[in-house]
Amino acid sequence: MHIVEQNPADATYGWGIGLTESALDALRPAACDVIDDLSDGSDITDEMGFILDGKSMTVHASSFYRISRILLLEKLQRWARAAGVTFAHNERVETSDELAGWDLVVGADGVNSQVRELFTETFKPEISYGNNWFAWYGTPRLFNAPSLIFMNRPEGVFVGHASQYSPDRSNFLVELSPQAYHNGNFDTLDEEASRQRCEEIFSDSLQGDRLYTNKSLWFQPKFVRCAGSWSHDNVTLIGDALHTVHPSLGSGTRLSMRDAVYLVDALIAGGWDVPAALRGYEETRRHVAESFQRAAVRSIGWYESLEDRPPRDLAKLTLEYVMRTGRVRYEEFRRRNSEMMSAYEALQ
Ligand SMILES: Cc1cc2nc3c(=O)[nH]c(=O)nc-3n(C[C@H](O)[C@H](O)[C@H](O)COP(=O)(O)OP(=O)(O)OC[C@H]3O[C@@H](n4cnc5c(N)ncnc54)[C@H](O)[C@@H]3O)c2cc1C
Repeated sequence: MHIVEQNPADATYGWGIGLTESALDALRPAACDVIDDLSDGSDITDEMGFILDGKSMTVHASSFYRISRILLLEKLQRWARAAGVTFAHNERVETSDELAGWDLVVGADGVNSQVRELFTETFKPEISYGNNWFAWYGTPRLFNAPSLIFMNRPEGVFVGHASQYSPDRSNFLVELSPQAYHNGNFDTLDEEASRQRCEEIFSDSLQGDRLYTNKSLWFQPKFVRCAGSWSHDNVTLIGDALHTVHPSLGSGTRLSMRDAVYLVDALIAGGWDVPAALRGYEETRRHVAESFQRAAVRSIGWYESLEDRPPRDLAKLTLEYVMRTGRVRYEEFRRRNSEMMSAYEALQ
């Protein structure tokens, strides 16, 4: 197996990721040693913090492992090399000629996939962009419980998504509605000026700590879905190249790794017959992936509608957030957060 990667071996975008315990459990049967290694040393928490205009609340939700993206990359490269995989770094795939001569070609080349672009007639990608704007920072302020910070400001609603991913760093993702983005003049600010503004605006939650940049330019997340077939001859796609979720759902890495597991399972089930395996991959995987994407669409819609109904009540906001995708059962959440839920229900 051979991997062509346009970047150097030690380049990543952004900071750290969270992986739920259920995501790692689902991956473990395929590669127990690898998953144990990825979660080794990672702090796990089932707490989640919510802050609305300075008031805060903590609830019990999914259990999360966290890892820095650079460490994840290092570990996966180490396991791949040990399994005999070869790498060509600093090399970019551009044309279909470069894909010839292999038994199977897997386009795992991310949201702007060139492999997908080469065969759009087959994959039939449907591309759209979210309305909200995001900038992804790091901070030394440690948000041990992944936390959502909501602020009603004159410019609009500001949201900070903060979570610790290493002993000395947290992610800090800022999300702004188009109104907040334009009223706050973020469209006129460069990376450093935006960082400073966000640092000032979220200074209470950051408790005076800094925000750091790593290509932290404002972006509107691209949403990709392939409506066509998932394979063109011996070429297929996995991960963001095939289907994205959304930063607000935070399951893109899980989806990508599970795609790879389903693909390998289909190859084994099909006796390494590539056409049969690619049919099996799509048959078994498509409906699961589409269900994740429907959850992502609901999550995007929830955040994008905040501007029309600015949050005022912390408990109501927290419950709405937890229930936004329909994947968490009310009774289960109530059981694990009985005190908070009793107080909330008493006021309804
Ligand atoms: C702000 C933000 C926060 C996120 N947080 C989380 C989280 O907490 N948990 C989670 O599970 N997911 C999270 N995600 C999603 C996650 O980052 C992606 O879903 C995941 O990285 C997709 O993996 P992938 O391998 O499909 O693509 P990528 O990680 O994008 O990898 C694609 C690789 O292909 C290379 N490449 C691209 N084109 C070419 C080419 N033509 N030739 C050669 N190489 C090429 C790229 O350099 C890159 O290394 C987040 C995403 C964002 C934007």
